[in-house]
Amino acid sequence: MFMSQLYSPTLRETPSEAEIISHKLMLRAGLMRRSAAGMYAFLPLGLRVIRKVEQIIREEMNAIAGQEVLMPMIQPAELWEESGRWKDYGDEMFRLKDRQGRQFCLGPTHEEIVTALVRSEVRSYRQLPLRLYQIQNKYRDEMRPRFGLMRGREFIMKDMYSFDRDQETLDESYWAAYHAYKRIFSRCGLDAHPVEADSGAIGGDVTHEFMVLAESGEDLVLFCEACEYAANAERAEGVRVPVEAGETPLKTLETVATPDASTIEQISRFLGVEPKDCIKTLLYVADGKPVAALVRGDHELNEIKLKKFLQCDELELADDETIFKVTNAKTGFAGPVGLSIPLYADYAIEHMVNAVIGANQDDHHTINVNLNRDFQVTEFADLKQTQPGDPCPRCSGVLEGARGIEVGQVFKLGTKYSDAMGATFLNENGKETPLVMGCYGIGVGRTVAAVIEKNYDEDGIIWPLAIAPYHVIIVPVSMKDEAQATAAERLYQELQSQGVEVILDDRDERPGVKFKDADLIGFPIRVTIGAKSLTNGQMEITLRKTKEKQSLPIEDIVPTIMNLLKDGVEK
Ligand code: ATP
Ligand code: MG
Repeated sequence: MFMSQLYSPTLRETPSEAEIISHKLMLRAGLMRRSAAGMYAFLPLGLRVIRKVEQIIREEMNAIAGQEVLMPMIQPAELWEESGRWKDYGDEMFRLKDRQGRQFCLGPTHEEIVTALVRSEVRSYRQLPLRLYQIQNKYRDEMRPRFGLMRGREFIMKDMYSFDRDQETLDESYWAAYHAYKRIFSRCGLDAHPVEADSGAIGGDVTHEFMVLAESGEDLVLFCEACEYAANAERAEGVRVPVEAGETPLKTLETVATPDASTIEQISRFLGVEPKDCIKTLLYVADGKPVAALVRGDHELNEIKLKKFLQCDELELADDETIFKVTNAKTGFAGPVGLSIPLYADYAIEHMVNAVIGANQDDHHTINVNLNRDFQVTEFADLKQTQPGDPCPRCSGVLEGARGIEVGQVFKLGTKYSDAMGATFLNENGKETPLVMGCYGIGVGRTVAAVIEKNYDEDGIIWPLAIAPYHVIIVPVSMKDEAQATAAERLYQELQSQGVEVILDDRDERPGVKFKDADLIGFPIRVTIGAKSLTNGQMEITLRKTKEKQSLPIEDIVPTIMNLLKDGVEK
């Protein structure tokens, strides 16, 4: 490819729409352009990178007996009604109607379509296991599309679905995908850590996310240095510490006026106590019924945990009206004493003595509140958001935190979809049995963005060889100099004939401009051809990552490049 013909408009300035480095660099290097919020057009270089990542994924999916298919992106509402997700998916789903008024959506994921696809064909255990995957655009009307490819509304995903006869063989599919994911990310030059995660709207119970640790990551990962434990913070388990008989004498219950102090911060300042001495009483409506959740004042409630614990379909914070009905007070003054709704408390509440709570009375709080003496809890549970510094749930270590980018996730779905949609097969004993499913996603664009987040410097992107848009760029200092132009073209031909992906910067530009573009786009190897070195029979090789330069006799250039490519460049 000749640079003069390549459609790769580079930018010197950073477009104001971009906040994080990968987004900035993908725009500046001319890899993509935005067409609407969360929707991007890939330009030739960007698409080459995307295709390379897809190819790595394809090879690794094929290696675990995955078979590639391509399912429709437009999906009929009926299938989603069968699974119950037409309603559950909510506003994140792009919905549309055809001319007859039938409802469809733009596929945010494909569990329903793939289950419908196999239920009519898979009849016998002999047809299992079956692993089908596709690489395709997905559509999610994200609340906050941002960070370029990180959180788009249209994005490319590889999604695989496995169908097995029982839990044991599902295990095999799951771990095969898990290890394939490790290989995929490592081949893309990424260190992606599998962490325990929450299954969210997809369902199922065992799931791992693959996290690339980076400052720009939207997730918080908690991990233990002393053991292997690592989990998404929204999933990380809290530890129930046994309660020991305390020394602190229980004081007398007292209700005090606390005008205008309704938040934990205000109340602790007003009463001169620590937030950890207050109990936060949060009122929720779970499937239409009010419940109270108690967490320590310096802790956050984890709604995912609460919802799972209550096993409810809908969970919402109670509105002012409901709060008034339940507590007889305005919002901000709820407390557990005297409430007649179920009270669920986080384990940390068990250890509190002489605590501060809302008095269920406008502008009042109650102090010196004690569990059992003053109120009873319906049930204790792990409800708080786990934080860095909390104890490890597996060993005696302490959890540390780091930001992470979720590039992939693997799920054991079990029979959630096959039960709901009647996808069964006849087992060895001729018994009709639901298919046992797993699903496995990788965000292709997000993976590319994550690679850039981890591989750049002040001059631009530093592509790992495996996914670089081209391996080598040849930069003649002046194309007007016939000797340079001829030498450049000869080298270009020779590298091409060896199968090297090479670009010749044949533009009539100043060398500085060409070098800047080469660094910005991030080709792993640059060959510079200058008048002076050429008269000495030499050319110069520069490695993008280390900036290491080497002048070599012309005849050594091709073999050196071939060696660098064989070794994976880096250096
Ligand atoms: P997130 O929690 O980041 O919203 P998710 O858990 O909903 O993602 P999955 O349904 O697990 O996403 O999708 C599989 C993969 O697709 C994710 O691991 C991620 O790499 C990618 N992905 C998900 N949503 C987006 C998005 N809006 N833009 C780009 N990639 C995405
Ligand atoms: Mg996910």
